[in-house]
Amino acid sequence: MTIPSFDLKRNYARVESEIKEAIDRVLSSQHFVLGPDVAAFESEAAAYLETPYAVGCASGSDALVLALMAAGVGPGDEVITSPFSFFATASCITRLGAKPVFADVEPDSYNISMEGVARAVTPRTKAFIPVHLFGQLCKMEEAPDALKDKKIALVEDCAQAFGAHRVHDGKITRGGAWGGFGCFSFFPTKNLGAYGDAGMVTCFNESDAKELSRLRVHGAAETYIHEEVGLNSRLDSIQAAILRVRLKKIETWTEERREVARRYGLLFAERGLEGPITPPSETPGNRHTYHQYVVKAERRDELQKFLAGRGIVTRVYYPLPLHLQPCFASAGYKQGSLPVAESLCGQVLALPMFPELLSEEQEAVVSAMAEFYANLKSRA
Ligand SMILES: *Cc1c(COP(=O)(O)O)cnc(C)c1O
Repeated sequence: MTIPSFDLKRNYARVESEIKEAIDRVLSSQHFVLGPDVAAFESEAAAYLETPYAVGCASGSDALVLALMAAGVGPGDEVITSPFSFFATASCITRLGAKPVFADVEPDSYNISMEGVARAVTPRTKAFIPVHLFGQLCKMEEAPDALKDKKIALVEDCAQAFGAHRVHDGKITRGGAWGGFGCFSFFPTKNLGAYGDAGMVTCFNESDAKELSRLRVHGAAETYIHEEVGLNSRLDSIQAAILRVRLKKIETWTEERREVARRYGLLFAERGLEGPITPPSETPGNRHTYHQYVVKAERRDELQKFLAGRGIVTRVYYPLPLHLQPCFASAGYKQGSLPVAESLCGQVLALPMFPELLSEEQEAVVSAMAEFYANLKSRA
């Protein structure tokens, strides 16, 4: 038996006929880039997220670059972000000639600490990229006032958090709807996945939406007249048509992920594993969408090997923090600069997580974990 970390085939089986119909419709239209399905997906996604505008693009990585460009980030600027994230969160900054400034994360939520953000603000700060890691929003309402006062652009990295929300003052706000730009990835394994690369940026005013729409087609508002140099980052019609089908299911799939997470929690408690294993914590007020189910585990590397021997696939997100990546060495960070992120890199383990994961499979995962720690004890 193998238990994969995710299984797209099981998910496809649930939507196959609708997806084929959607792709067929695009093939009949022979309209492959942007077009009516992209416009329809943008307005349906904006309605779901409760943002006035959404602009499709080619990937989540491009969404970040486009948003920073629209925010006017360039050489000499600083952008504050998390060191505990996927590479694209920081490469979008250096690609534009700006400097990433990393603020450490919280040990329980794995998200950026707003106190750290407050300390990182300087007169050169131009933008702030909170990353809603693993499907849980940062404590957005605790963002320092200095960000608003100094008109520092907010660029949320929502690649892992489609549909996640946070309640504050009795009001629900989804990721991507906190008043700045929201950057989404629809990479196939993300909670709302396309069947290829795709991304999107949400925003709150018409001029930003127009700017993003220009930037994704080489900076041209009118064909062949270029106001500025943009990117080639268009969303394909086939991907948009697929995303329209999948968007209708996202609430069901998110609730299924949350149920998988709840079952893991119960199994850890039943097996008395809450010492060597720290389950992910859902910050009060948050709706965690469990893009990943990431625990902190004692003897992580040995545990991962043991599980692999049992056919259980787990992953480490992330083994090396961004501030220690060789390509960002010029930012001037060292081992010890951001201790929480560094220590998490040695402890975290993502267990199998997808909507269709069976409870029997979860029991097998947790039994194997219990066996690993029992073996350790008997050897000690
Ligand atoms: C996946 C991801 C991205 C990049 O999205 P792509 O569509 O793969 O380019 C950016 N940030 C985070 C946190 C991600 O997980």
